[in-house]
Amino acid sequence: MRDQNPEKLRTVKNLIIDMDGVLYCGREPLRGAKEFLSHLRRQGVPFILATNNSTLTPTQYVAKLGAMDIEVTEDRILTSGQATALYLSQVAQPAARVYAIGEAGLISALREQAFVITDEDVDFVVVGLDRELTYEKLEIATLAIRAGATFIGTNPDTTLPTEQGLVPGTGATLAALEAATGISPLTIGKPQPILLRLAMEKVGVTPEGTAIIGDRLETDVLGGKEAGLTTILVLSGISDREELATSPYQPDLVFDSIGDLHQAWRSRKGS
Ligand SMILES: [Mg+2]
Repeated sequence: MRDQNPEKLRTVKNLIIDMDGVLYCGREPLRGAKEFLSHLRRQGVPFILATNNSTLTPTQYVAKLGAMDIEVTEDRILTSGQATALYLSQVAQPAARVYAIGEAGLISALREQAFVITDEDVDFVVVGLDRELTYEKLEIATLAIRAGATFIGTNPDTTLPTEQGLVPGTGATLAALEAATGISPLTIGKPQPILLRLAMEKVGVTPEGTAIIGDRLETDVLGGKEAGLTTILVLSGISDREELATSPYQPDLVFDSIGDLHQAWRSRKGS
């Protein structure tokens, strides 16, 4: 464990917690995740689990975590699919017409906000990770954006870590559409501020006293810094010590794992 500034931890009252690489890797829970979340619940610490992944619904995340013996309720989860639908509900006309490239997590979030999912007379093209992406979907999206639809991406990640290695992420699809239209999307997920702002709104907190825990310097730490949060990096996921040493985005605190953070959290003064 490396704990550069223990004072920083003492001022943290609320937490935004990334999931992949922090609580689990693939289907494997990470050491200390279950215990830390139980501790937060017992202490009544406001927290939310926020992910750039838009493929699953909150119900599916509750089940995924439950299978790892990590107990959470749906109201503790914010995906980039939900954040995108929430953002649209703030800026779009009611019943706006949306063409969506994405999986269940994104489509059901858009339907929940009563948007019309269609490929005709489209007001918004919304793009998330879609593992059944086809040329036809890219074609429909391109024509709609060229005809004036607003272009929105759930998250900018160009790659997706899998057991086989890095494969194309949402950002790769966004890049294809950007190349075909000459238009850049507005992205909702980290490091952009919208998902983090909506996470804080959902918990009812402000940046002051709020920290983000994540495993990726260029999304969790950069996004946290831009949103004015305390930033905590755990080294159990994507970013390692080598990357940390040369990164322009330096977190306030670094721990090997959420288990080590839990230990420091318990022994902090005034807690
Ligand atoms: Mg992560």
